[in-house]
Amino acid sequence: MFNAKAYSAASATSPFASSTIPRRDPTEHDVQIEILFCGICHSDLHYARDEWHSIMPTVYPCVPGHEIVGRVTKVGSAVTKFKPGNLAGVGCLVDSDRTCPHCQAGLEQFCQKQTLTYGSPDKHLGGVTYGGYSDSIVVDERFVLRIPPNLNLAGVAPLHCAGITTYSPMRHWGVTKGKKVGVVGLGGLGHMGVKFAHAFGAHVVVFTTSPGKKEDALRLGADEVVVSRNADEMQKHAGSFDFILDTIAADHDINAYINLLTRDGNLTLVGAPSMPLAVAAFGLLLGRRSLSGSPIGGLPETQEMLDFCGKHNITADVEVIPIQKVNEAYERLLKSDVKYRFVIDMASLKSE
Ligand SMILES: [Zn+2]
Ligand SMILES: [Zn+2]
Repeated sequence: MFNAKAYSAASATSPFASSTIPRRDPTEHDVQIEILFCGICHSDLHYARDEWHSIMPTVYPCVPGHEIVGRVTKVGSAVTKFKPGNLAGVGCLVDSDRTCPHCQAGLEQFCQKQTLTYGSPDKHLGGVTYGGYSDSIVVDERFVLRIPPNLNLAGVAPLHCAGITTYSPMRHWGVTKGKKVGVVGLGGLGHMGVKFAHAFGAHVVVFTTSPGKKEDALRLGADEVVVSRNADEMQKHAGSFDFILDTIAADHDINAYINLLTRDGNLTLVGAPSMPLAVAAFGLLLGRRSLSGSPIGGLPETQEMLDFCGKHNITADVEVIPIQKVNEAYERLLKSDVKYRFVIDMASLKSE
């Protein structure tokens, strides 16, 4: 065991502060990674503030962070995929039972016995797992991703959560050239959805409540932008979408989007409003439309997504901050005041 530097929160109302956390020495299948960048996901904020108490009570001190990129510093004797010096990534999962039907299918995101990167019981050291707001992490190589060498590393970090969360449902629902795809909301998730849909060759329409985002949406790869408050503009697209990715985490009228789907069209939720959404049955019946949800992705698909990003030169649009600004970043995140993801430059932790 060794001590790693980290930024942790001591309670739901405490700001993040410099601290040390225990990490295990690499076992034979483990990879030790020096963390270079870690993205700030909205889940980090929910977890740090114990806002998901009913499903996942936070254990303090807590260290969030599941959009991790870094460099391998040590490998266990049985590791085959990585050598010291290699780039490596870690997303939302660091372990699972590996034996259930989901794991067998490479869909670890559905495993009932998964170990999350932060806040899950730590099988090795006891206590809970600590995430990427830290200078290092030790993870079984099965849960470590290879990073294409041609990409900007800070922009790669968010691919491990925001990236795979939007890539996976588009692959599942067959987004390809010739399909008409909608992306609702242009934040951390939405901006990745636009980039992927565009790279898949789809006709991409962004729905936003802020007309000011139009130019940026077009720059990111949208073919059209619809201001969702404008009923006439919405009506023009009625019954025409093959797939809509809904990234909104607040309450909103989902029926307005369901009605834009074509026959057998699908709307997938990747945002998580805290209250149930009202769904009108007729919107689904007429047109045999479907409504579904999707969480992150399995390890094989996450690797496929990263390789796809390498090939198409896709990264997240990020604002890089020193770790000392993480409390401020959380306040700005609450106001959606970021284009489009905060990423912590972990070099800033060295001075702590
Ligand atoms: Zn996340
Ligand atoms: Zn499993």
